[in-house]
Amino acid sequence: MDIYLTPLKFYNQLLLQNLVAEFSKRFSCKIHLNDLKVNIDDFFSIERKQYYSTQILAEVINLTDNIEGKVLLLTDVDLFVPALTFIFGEAQLNGKHSIVSVCRLHEEFYSGISNDKLLLERTIKEALHELGHNYGLRHCLDWDCVMHSSNGIEEVDIKGNGYCPACAKSIEGYLW
Ligand SMILES: [Zn+2]
Ligand SMILES: [Zn+2]
Repeated sequence: MDIYLTPLKFYNQLLLQNLVAEFSKRFSCKIHLNDLKVNIDDFFSIERKQYYSTQILAEVINLTDNIEGKVLLLTDVDLFVPALTFIFGEAQLNGKHSIVSVCRLHEEFYSGISNDKLLLERTIKEALHELGHNYGLRHCLDWDCVMHSSNGIEEVDIKGNGYCPACAKSIEGYLW
């Protein structure tokens, strides 16, 4: 089951390349860059000025039936689900699709000062997290584990950047 990194209104090529390199080190499957034409304008909420994540996933699910593997969407746009102010990402548990928004992973969103290294680190964590859900992992209580839930950026920064031994064990077939 290969992994298809799929940019969607996402324009940071360097970040994308770095993510491919990082995933290739961690996962034993092939990592592909996938080009997908999809219009998500309908999923923009004018009141919230954000995109409805679950609707984007539903649309992409329809368009990627032919892909055998995990489809991880990466987007610059800010995402929401109705119950929450924002989300960093969303994934189907034991499924094929997930999405990560880097909008609130940019340090300049908080402090006004950009930090590419921190952006990469945060993106790796959230991408590993959502993919973990695709592979059937639920939230983990271990703060060293990337499967710990993060409701704010400080929680993204505190948690570890890899799977804890227990989580890694249950998905060991996909890891090197
Ligand atoms: Zn989660
Ligand atoms: Zn864990």
